[in-house]
Amino acid sequence: MQNQQTPDNQGITDCGYRRDEKIPTQPVPFRCSQNTCSSCAPVNALQVAGALAMADPRRAVRVSGLPDCWEEVRRRINRLIQRIRRSGYAFEWAFHREVNPNNNGSHVHGWQCGDYIPQPLLQDSCDAVGLGLPDIRRFDAKGAPITYGMKMVLPPANTPPEQAAADLRTYLDLNGNRLVHATRGFWRDEQGRVTTLRAAMQLVAQRHQRRRPPNA
Ligand SMILES: [Zn+2]
Repeated sequence: MQNQQTPDNQGITDCGYRRDEKIPTQPVPFRCSQNTCSSCAPVNALQVAGALAMADPRRAVRVSGLPDCWEEVRRRINRLIQRIRRSGYAFEWAFHREVNPNNNGSHVHGWQCGDYIPQPLLQDSCDAVGLGLPDIRRFDAKGAPITYGMKMVLPPANTPPEQAAADLRTYLDLNGNRLVHATRGFWRDEQGRVTTLRAAMQLVAQRHQRRRPPNA
């Protein structure tokens, strides 16, 4: 159990759960399930990634030129969705926010269901609400977990723990302490019925358990 905190990873803890642990005679290790836990956040992220794929989004949307403050990002994105819907388009999506590769500003990755939104309409709507350049393109996850927007929560195995914790802290700060945000009608179960993120994540976890060999 490690609970070291530094200014860079403030509030990030570690309950010690290891998802790769395979001890046949031991019960499933306790897992705290918090997004602020560097052991549990990657597990949660993989469940979110599976839930994203289950919703079967048809387009990938990227929006750059975001303000720094999360509350302001959320406010502008809500206004963007209102504008698109008022223009007569069905729009459900889930999104997360990442730092730009050069560490200068941030962008949003969104996974969209509903109508195709013409690029000019999307561009005008982003201009109107104070967001930067959007890009929308056809997308098909083919059932594979959509981890792409959560790279900062899914560090490669050789990442130093302090770095992983600092990246997790940065990601949570960028995203209002959540792994993903979505419109109300976005999440779907295996039959395509509207569900909640929590229920979708549970389905993904159960599916994963079913695939494990006995006693593994
Ligand atoms: Zn934990």
